[in-house]
Amino acid sequence: MLKAGIASAVALATLPVTLRGTNAAALSKPVVAESSFARIVEVGDGVFAVVSTPLDSAGNFATPQTLCNGGLVVGDERILSVDGYYQPEGAAWVNEQAKKLFGRPVSDVICTHLHLDHTGGLAGFQDGATGPEIYMTARTWAMMVDQYSSGTAVDGTSFLAPPARLVGPTRVIDDESQSHTLDLGGRSVTILPLGGHTPSDLAILVDDLPITFGGDLAWWGLFPNYVDAVPSKLAGSVETLMSGGSRLMVTGHGGLVSTDDMAPYAELIASIDSAALQARERGWSPEKAGEVYKMPASTADWGFFNPRYPERAVAAWYREWGMATP
Ligand SMILES: [Zn+2]
Repeated sequence: MLKAGIASAVALATLPVTLRGTNAAALSKPVVAESSFARIVEVGDGVFAVVSTPLDSAGNFATPQTLCNGGLVVGDERILSVDGYYQPEGAAWVNEQAKKLFGRPVSDVICTHLHLDHTGGLAGFQDGATGPEIYMTARTWAMMVDQYSSGTAVDGTSFLAPPARLVGPTRVIDDESQSHTLDLGGRSVTILPLGGHTPSDLAILVDDLPITFGGDLAWWGLFPNYVDAVPSKLAGSVETLMSGGSRLMVTGHGGLVSTDDMAPYAELIASIDSAALQARERGWSPEKAGEVYKMPASTADWGFFNPRYPERAVAAWYREWGMATP
């Protein structure tokens, strides 16, 4: 969700945040590991959700080591980590838990999209000369290089510091027109290319259990981030994830939720689409649209990582429509 670090988000995250569903859905499953920044929850036989708890009670990003939700899928031969987390410390913690719980480290990491809260920690999986295969789409890697390979000036030097210790893919997915299978030994996952949260998103479906890792196409209890969104694709991708029977959705942020119960999230996205259309008709700026935007009743108690997210969502539509935004 973050473009270049969390500083601006921290500064703006002043609203109290309720993570509706996080505790109810996550804590009804066995917690197998816990830290100040995340807990690992067993959501199926050999399938684990990493549920991040980055915010303190005042809504500040007090513990952003993992920041996004992800997970582990344990096969007979390989262990998949869904996403690379925000900081190497977060990824290293997840890797340590894999070694403790299963006797072996993560062997494969699939990055659902470019944002640093899902890729900034990748270096933490490396152990000396040994590290996992890292999968991402060619477009995701290109966007990471585009957005993150420069940086800010380091005081007193002539150098620029990128916003993270960037790590690139060892396996590139260059065909997003079809799904891909990753065999973990005795079980496999389907990698489903979609789009909407960014131009290039991946969802990961466990093939032998009704569990989906939605990346940031799926949020629960928190208003989604549209900073790089392609909003014309988002609703359709969410519909795809909600179809195909009842599955547990490990969201990119917020709580875990059954796909049967995700209608409020789809309503929230539809409400943004309507708000953007109305704003265009009335000649409003995204800022004005964000000010007057009202959450649907079904998500009225959802929180915000950043109170300007509704404005950014309308701005994403304006970008797609080729309308200049301030
Ligand atoms: Zn994210």
